Parts: sequence; C-alpha cells; structure tokens
Amino acid sequence: MTHIAFQKKGAPVEVEADFIVVGSGAGGGAVASGLARGGAKVAVVEAGPWRDPEHYPSSMYGTMRDMFDDWTSLMTFGRALWPVLQGRVVGGTTTINSAIVVRTPADIFQSWEKNYGFGGEALAEKVWAHQDQLEKELYVQETAPDKMGRSNELALITSQKRGVEGHVIRRNVKDCEGSGQCLQGCKKERKQSTNLKMIPEVMERGGMVLSCAPVHKIMLKGNRAVGVTGRFVHPQTKEKGAKFVVRAKHGVVVAASCTHSPALLQRSGIKGRMLGQLFRAHPGSAILGLYDDDINMPFGATQGWSSLEYRNTPGFKLETLNMPLELIAGRISGGGMRLMDRLKNYRRLALWVVACRADSIGTVSNGPFGKPIVKYTMNQTDMAKLRDGAVEVAKHHFAAGAKAVMPGVLGVPYELHEKDLHHLENASLDPRAWTSILTHLFGGCPMGANPDVGLCDERGRVFGYEGLVVADASVMPTNLGVNPQHTIMGLARQRAAELLEDIS
Ligand SMILES: Cc1cc2nc3c(=O)[nH]c(=O)nc-3n(C[C@H](O)[C@H](O)[C@H](O)COP(=O)(O)OP(=O)(O)OC[C@H]3O[C@@H](n4cnc5c(N)ncnc54)[C@H](O)[C@@H]3O)c2cc1C
Ligand code: SF4
Repeated sequence: MTHIAFQKKGAPVEVEADFIVVGSGAGGGAVASGLARGGAKVAVVEAGPWRDPEHYPSSMYGTMRDMFDDWTSLMTFGRALWPVLQGRVVGGTTTINSAIVVRTPADIFQSWEKNYGFGGEALAEKVWAHQDQLEKELYVQETAPDKMGRSNELALITSQKRGVEGHVIRRNVKDCEGSGQCLQGCKKERKQSTNLKMIPEVMERGGMVLSCAPVHKIMLKGNRAVGVTGRFVHPQTKEKGAKFVVRAKHGVVVAASCTHSPALLQRSGIKGRMLGQLFRAHPGSAILGLYDDDINMPFGATQGWSSLEYRNTPGFKLETLNMPLELIAGRISGGGMRLMDRLKNYRRLALWVVACRADSIGTVSNGPFGKPIVKYTMNQTDMAKLRDGAVEVAKHHFAAGAKAVMPGVLGVPYELHEKDLHHLENASLDPRAWTSILTHLFGGCPMGANPDVGLCDERGRVFGYEGLVVADASVMPTNLGVNPQHTIMGLARQRAAELLEDIS
C-alpha cells in the first residue's frame, strides 16, 4: 500500500502508473476503484490531506480549516456573494457530505439526449446497473427509526399529515448512530465516504495515493495527456514542498470538482469552446422553526427527511438538516448579547432547507493562485422558485407545530408567526437579500454531442485530445433536481469500464 503525503522541498517525487486520477471525491474515488478492480495500476493525486476518522476535528471550525476547500472562502461573483462549499481532503466532498443517495431520475437521461445529444436509455441502463452495485458496496439504506431524531421525525409525520410527498432519506451509511455530525466527517466510521472504502481499495490493489498534492498542470505531448505535475503543499502551514511528477501510461482522468476541473484544464492550456461553461447549482436556503418542546438537533441523522413533491414544478426540493450550534450561530442574525439570547433557543430549533433546481447558468475560470473564479447570479425566475420554496418550508414548520420561523431574509422580520407569512411571500427577489449557499454543483466541463455543445464527448473524453477524460460532477450539462453523488459515481464507474475496455 503506497501513500505519499507531504514531502519537504528536495528532489522531485517521480512516479508512474497506468492511469492518473486527479481528485479522490465522488467521481475520483469511483473511477479509481473501478479501474483498480480491472487490474490497472492507478495513482490518485489529491490536493487535500489524508485524515483518518479519529483525527477528524471535533469542531466545525477545525473541519473548515482541515477538510473544506480554502476555509469555505470560495464565493460566487455576481449580484450576491454566495459561498460555494466543497471538500479538500482525501475523500473530497464525500468526507464532509450528508451521505444522501438518490438514483438518477430517468428524465435526466432524456433531457441530456434531447438537449445535448448524448444519454438516453442506453446510458441510463448502464448508470443504473452501476448504481445497483454501488448501493450494495456502500450499504445504502434508510436511517433506522430510533436514530432519526426529532427534527426528521416531525418533518416526516407532517408530510403525511399535509398529503405532500415526503420520505425517509436513503444514505450510504452502515448502522448510523444519529450523531448529526456528517458535515464534520463521521468519526464513528459509519458513513461510507470514498476515503474509507474506495481509496483504500485502490491501494490494496497495488495503486498509490499522493495527498497534499494539488495538481498544477496536466502534461501534454502533442495533444496526448501523459502525466501531471505540481508541488506538495503542507495542509496547515501551506508551506510549499517538493515538486511531483506523475506519468501515465494510458491516460489522465480529471475529477477535481466543478470548480477545480475547469480551472486545472485552463491552466494546462486545454482549448475548448465549452470549457468553464454551463456551471449550474442547487442554491439552498435554510428556514429555522422554533418549537415549544425540545428538538435537540445534535441527535439524529444529519439529514433524514426529504420531499420531491416540487422537483419539477416549480423546481425545488425540501430537506431537513441537523446543524451544530456553531453553524446555527453563523446562520442567526445579530451579534453580542442579542445573538447569545437568540442562541438560548438552540435546543428548540429545527432547521429545514429548500434547494432550488435553478436554471441559471454561470461560468468557471482559472483565477490567481489556482483559485477558481465562479461567476453566477440567480435570475429572477429562479429567485421566485427559491422564495416559493422558503414559504413552503415555513408552512411545513407551522403545520408541524412551530410557534415561529426565522427565514433570515433581509427586509423580512427576524421572527415570523403564521399570520405574518405574507412578509416572506412578498420578500425581495434580490439575491443580496438572501442567505444562500451552493453545495450541489454541476457543469464546467460538460458532455455533449460535439465541441459546440460540450467540452467532452458522451464518454467524458475531452474533444481534440487523447488520454484525457473528465469523471466528476463537472461533466453534467444540467442539474438533476436530486442529490448528485450517486449520479457522479454511476457515471464515473461507467468511465472506468470504458477505459478498461479501450486498453484490453
Ligand atoms: C456540505 C455538503 C453536503 C452535501 N451532501 C450531499 C449528500 O448528502 N448527497 C449528495 O448526493 N451530495 C451531497 N453533496 C454534494 C456532493 O458531495 C458532491 O456533489 C460530490 O462530492 C462532487 O463530486 P466530485 O467528484 O465532482 O468532487 P469532490 O467530491 O468535491 O472531489 C474533488 C476532489 O478533487 C480535489 N482537487 C481539487 N483540485 C485539485 C487539484 N488541482 N489537484 C488534485 N486534487 C484536486 C479536491 O480536494 C477534492 O478532494 C454535498 C455537498 C456539500 C458541500
Ligand atoms: S449521523 Fe453521525 S453516525 Fe450517522 S453517518 Fe452522520 S456522522 Fe455518522
């Protein structure tokens, strides 16, 4: 088992493999383990550090420092500065996500075929077959009723009462203990993030991992990708270490995320009309409900209930989300004594969210110091969807017995009672008024029938280059309206099967 972590300045580290996989998250982990199972020697090159669960920080502050990308400082450039959240650690965003697993809906493959000239039933069958296998490997299951916690339970009972679709979420978690800490990494090793299952499997099968190793450039020989280079970076001090050069016999697979994959390809001089285009997201906003009785968010699955009632019309999804006190403190408005006073209610708060299936499109480009620049503004139609979703969440809270809700929208009173809901219904559609974050990202290196509509073909191969494949969320030309990791993994496993076929 080979793991090369941070190396101090000195002689360059040079290694060779059949395939290089850049990034170890949902896409990188799935494609690397698929390739390794087929007998290929794989080198996974990951910008973030290796963290074993017992070393995951206990505080959210520590998690942001050690496991999130750039302290969560990446923001959208546009009408509003909304945070773009991702992991930077072995396991990528799967290490700090909520483990929700949703199969790719059939309408997605149809829309890709209709609008971008690839996909359709043939791709659907292949991806679903990989998802069957992934669900077994990753112990995908519903949370046990006694580990749901009060917030998830309340949302579930209320959807039954109101007659809206609502269900217990399926997650890639084996015997969840309901500690509500998925966003800090599961210290109890229940969540099957790629750093626990897929990356160790790559190593057991003769592959290697370079961690703390952000790839600066893809090496090209003519139009063929032959390797990657960069410099190790110390995860805490940010000290620059030795140079690394990894050479690939058969190809380089890029899976560095929707923001870092396009930026890396641009830095490497890759040309393509669609490079950095079709960036999309599911921007989300959270509404707190204040209850008479204890909710106790620190107990229960981090996310246990979801509703897809409005996925297609008007286009949003609802979910519960148990958050630690530190994050709630960042979400509640006010400071000093006023904030302390508001936080006294923590035990009686439930946080439920709306994630908007936005049609708005942005771009990604490579910025100074290798930091991606994301240009993105939600249009007014999408903002109206977000607002409708927020109103729906508030109604769900009231139907569940909340005595007040806190929407956190500028111009809307801090605390709203049911009779005051019109304030939220008429809230501003200016994105600057809303507290929103982007966690589900799509596009940047989209697949398409030809270079006019896609950067990559239907097999993730970058048009005009050889041995260069993209296998992460950036290949999706549309959003999904459901949580993306399962689709990313299903597509990535399909990429592995195709690459193995090519070299056999
Ligand atoms: C807080 C949060 C909760 C979420 N919850 C869920 C959920 O419950 N279910 C779900 O389906 N989705 C969820 N998501 C989204 C999901 O986790 C992501 O869509 C998915 O992980 C993206 O996969 P990816 O392979 O594209 O990128 P990532 O998983 O982000 O992996 C990219 C990897 O590439 C590395 N990298 C970047 N640049 C370089 C470079 N230059 N060189 C080397 N390595 C590099 C990064 O460090 C990272 O490890 C959540 C996201 C967030 C932020
Ligand atoms: S809720 Fe707790 S035990 Fe369950 S997967 Fe998340 S962190 Fe692990």
